[in-house]
Amino acid sequence: MRITSVETFVLSNRQALVKVATSDGTVGWGEAVVENWARPTAATVERMAEFLIGRNPLEITRIWQVLTRGGFYRGGPVMASAVAGIDQALWDIKGRVLGAPVHALLGGPTRDKVRVYAHAGKAGQAGNPERACSLVNAGYSLLKVAPDAGPVGFLETPAWADVFLGELAALREVVGHGVDIAIDFHGRLSVAQSRRILPQLEELAPAFVEEPLRPEHSALIGDLVRCSNIPIATGERLYGRTEFRGVLEAGVAIVQPDVSHAGGITECFRIATQAEVYDAQIAPHCPLGPLSLAACLQLDLAVPNFFAQEQVVDVHLPESPAMAFVANPEVLRMVDGYLPRLTGPGLGIDIDEDAVRARVVSGLLDPGSPVWSYPDGSFAEW
Ligand SMILES: [Mg+2]
Repeated sequence: MRITSVETFVLSNRQALVKVATSDGTVGWGEAVVENWARPTAATVERMAEFLIGRNPLEITRIWQVLTRGGFYRGGPVMASAVAGIDQALWDIKGRVLGAPVHALLGGPTRDKVRVYAHAGKAGQAGNPERACSLVNAGYSLLKVAPDAGPVGFLETPAWADVFLGELAALREVVGHGVDIAIDFHGRLSVAQSRRILPQLEELAPAFVEEPLRPEHSALIGDLVRCSNIPIATGERLYGRTEFRGVLEAGVAIVQPDVSHAGGITECFRIATQAEVYDAQIAPHCPLGPLSLAACLQLDLAVPNFFAQEQVVDVHLPESPAMAFVANPEVLRMVDGYLPRLTGPGLGIDIDEDAVRARVVSGLLDPGSPVWSYPDGSFAEW
């Protein structure tokens, strides 16, 4: 059995798929994209395809070594995401050939269903109480919000904190104490501002605070772990075990590798195992599509130290538009805040290739994430 073709499909600036075909007719799919850099990631997959054609797709770790180390230069979001998409497709193939879901090949399942969470945000404020209520009524037990009122200054005024804390308190009021709230700082706050605000959030008892600093400042995260009793989460912009080692040693409670960014299922499984040594759990980052989500779910079903799964494809809706190219969308439908265990072979979801091809964008892509600035015109984190 040999790899015969590798094809990429760019659907938007935050969605690109890869299809790997083999000599026996088995096909595997993956989601290979870095948000805002879809075309460079697809181009990297196409370059990596030159190393893949003719290889045995079942030798995943051997291929992973070639792709991550064979070009001499390594790492970074684009290359690690290209590897991730290919890796997902190879696991999909392996599962289909062996007639088993990926989590079973990784030793699972360790659980029968996967807790999922949704974003309850609103542009201009931290959380939308109305949306939060509807999500809780739909069954979610964990919601996530961010300080979404615009750029956050290096050091903000007490008035900024009053508004932020007030919005979060209003959110807690409507959802009650039986629902978890997570707060994503989005790397938007300086270390100094995070250190000032974290202790003030203790009363709210958030499940976790995510990305309280930018990834380039990861070496300082221990200061933020120690400045309050709030569990700290990070990792959506870290791309391998080496980068996770430091934040785990610093005491983060939750790591959030992105299965489409951090080397795929192969590397994220290792990151989860590494986290277990530090009594940390995984909550894989997934602001992408159903293929990436399926890859996350396979990981979540395989490892013991799993906290909750992010998703933005509205798994609570009977007809989610994000599922348009999934032939069996019913397997990604939430029941009481959980997604049932995927039981189909490979990643467990089937792709409608015609629907994918119909969505390919050949011209200019959407502009992607906004670029923010401070009132003086200088750059601000989004
Ligand atoms: Mg985040």
